[in-house]
Amino acid sequence: VLALTACGSGRDDSKGTDSSGSGAKGFAANSLIGVALPAKTSENWVLAGDLFTSGLKEAGFTSDVQYAGASTTVADQQAQITAMVTKGAKAIVIGATDAAQLSTQVAAAHAAGAKVIAYDRLILNTPDLDYYVAFDNFKVGQLQGQALLDGMKKKKPAGPYTVELFAGSPDDNNATVFFNGAMDVLKPEIDKGNVVVGSGQKDFKSIAIQGWKAEGAQARMDQLLTSTYGSKAIDGVLSPNDTLARAIIQSIKSRNKPVPVVTGQDSEVESIKSIMKGEQYMTINKDTRNLVKETINMVKALQAGTEPQINDTKSYDNKSKIVPTYLLPPVAVTKDNAAEAYANDPKLAPLTK
Ligand code: BGC
Repeated sequence: VLALTACGSGRDDSKGTDSSGSGAKGFAANSLIGVALPAKTSENWVLAGDLFTSGLKEAGFTSDVQYAGASTTVADQQAQITAMVTKGAKAIVIGATDAAQLSTQVAAAHAAGAKVIAYDRLILNTPDLDYYVAFDNFKVGQLQGQALLDGMKKKKPAGPYTVELFAGSPDDNNATVFFNGAMDVLKPEIDKGNVVVGSGQKDFKSIAIQGWKAEGAQARMDQLLTSTYGSKAIDGVLSPNDTLARAIIQSIKSRNKPVPVVTGQDSEVESIKSIMKGEQYMTINKDTRNLVKETINMVKALQAGTEPQINDTKSYDNKSKIVPTYLLPPVAVTKDNAAEAYANDPKLAPLTK
């Protein structure tokens, strides 16, 4: 990598791309960079769009940042990517709405000489995806599973603990990754009988919430409370993100039941407030500012005709190839470490005082 970087840095970058894959030549410094994001299903996507717009401009690029619409997300995103290719984008950054439905568009982008970067969510079943940049999402799940156990133990030193499991949207590849990470920690406890899933619903399909919709999580929790928790207490809920966590807590509170240990992810403002007042138990800090910065660094390297920095060449098999990846570490946050975790975040730090 070092050698490549060194010899690439002095090149003339005005020559356009080499789509053969060997000896990439970079592209013009003011090229168009496309950014196709999913619907605004959580605050991180809103922030990412803003940061890509300002960061790409600051780096001298022209940018085209698009969100898929709330209802027809897949078709929207496919059309947006196709339009970016037509406009001559030299790199296209994609936060996929549906991991398995973009191979045609990714192939077209690649064939036109654009580099394709999967942002936060891996894109499946395509040999034409060039890079993946994300937080370690399996680790996110493990941290959620561990925090669920720790939080329940703090309240009640000995099991068995009664829990319910929730997962994100089935079309988002991350949803399965988060769930598998959490189950890596929880399954041994379930097998031992120390953790009991009250409803018995444990497989991904029956616990997944379509479109990461708060209403969907609230409706499922309402149903569970009726079917399973008439008189029984619930100790914990595995929630894959903050939006769903708050909906689950809302459902439980509306039945006048004590709030159990509920996990989350994304460090959303309302969830930090909830954590500080002792309701939601934890969240995950995946600082969007860093993820966008690393993605733009990747685009800058490609522009200069150099090899972008990657730190994982083994783990991300998209069922067609192993995708070169740059991974960042997620951090688990509870009330105990919130002040420290958000010390350099001007929006969240004041909430932890
Ligand atoms: C992201 C999460 C987010 C979820 C819903 C996932 O792909 O990794 O951070 O909570 O989408 O927007």
